[in-house]
Amino acid sequence: MNAEATRQVDELRETIARLHHQLTRYNLVAWTSGNVSARVPGSDLMVIKPSGVDYDDLSAATMVVCDLDGTLVEGDFAPSSDTAAHAYVYRAMPEVGGVVHTHSAYATAWAARGEAIPCHLTAQADEFGGEIPVGPFALIGGDDIGKGIVATLSGHRSPAVLMRNHGVFTIGRDARAAVKAAVMCEDVARTAHLTRVLGDPAPMAQADIDALHHRYQNAYGQRGTSAATS
Ligand SMILES: [Zn+2]
Repeated sequence: MNAEATRQVDELRETIARLHHQLTRYNLVAWTSGNVSARVPGSDLMVIKPSGVDYDDLSAATMVVCDLDGTLVEGDFAPSSDTAAHAYVYRAMPEVGGVVHTHSAYATAWAARGEAIPCHLTAQADEFGGEIPVGPFALIGGDDIGKGIVATLSGHRSPAVLMRNHGVFTIGRDARAAVKAAVMCEDVARTAHLTRVLGDPAPMAQADIDALHHRYQNAYGQRGTSAATS
């Protein structure tokens, strides 16, 4: 690694360790499941969570660095068992700077049913631009999960995919945006579930969904920061 890559990696180790604590804060993960990664800008590297380490023990020092084939480059621990999926996404989608995976309960219940979350809420139109889609069933280990994520999200407005019988993967221009998508996905999935229990949701016009998404992605938030603030 050159000096610039080393500086970026050191910064991302801090950022990614900190972002993992948002997964526990928002109750998106159980035990050691779930993971966040970030692409190292300007190099074929990523920073990702180590496998099987308690969330309380995650720190900048315990994060690991892999290349975009998922091979360990730097770190004292084995990388997350989902590393191949993250790496595949970075290889296939150059605009993606962050990837998150969780088994958050409500969203994963929709994934277990293999059912996309229909858009009946302004907040979902804002963040996801329509339905949150379902991706194919895929076994962990090779490139199948990554392929399913990329095939589903390429050209789709949603930064989140419900991988069938598995859980949620989200993407973002950086890791913070991907974490935000994971938090919002679970929030929307919970409300959509409650709506389903109550009865039939009131429909939203596609033109309104389009207008909300356009405004939120282009004009919302503080100037000079990402739309993915608050
Ligand atoms: Zn998983």
